Amino acid sequence: MQRDDIFARDGYRCVFCGQVFPAEELTVDHLQARSRGGDRSGGNLVTACGGCNARKGRQPLARFLAAEPETYTNFRRHAVHAWKRHVQAVEEEVRRMAQSVERGAQRKGVRAGERQPPPPGNRP
Ligand SMILES: [Zn+2]
Repeated sequence: MQRDDIFARDGYRCVFCGQVFPAEELTVDHLQARSRGGDRSGGNLVTACGGCNARKGRQPLARFLAAEPETYTNFRRHAVHAWKRHVQAVEEEVRRMAQSVERGAQRKGVRAGERQPPPPGNRP
């Protein structure tokens, strides 16, 4: 599948911001990175605008989506032409990532609490 075929399939719409762009402002992005067993078939590719692609940078797709809930909402709405198993694998990874972020925040909370001054009753 050629890039232009992916764009046409997705209606020239970026799956991350949901906006429509001319082809020269679009890129294709892998759902499953090639290093993680993703292939180059159309089912593993989605349309992304240059801006969203730059914002994502080199981080894994799931981490990008976990960090931006609004982008994740757009992704789930618009990445409907890619293969479902790839989309579901990404969604599963986002869920796991969100849980580990929550656990991390809780650990940070405990450490922050330890640094707090003693309760007012202990002061002179
Ligand atoms: Zn975009």
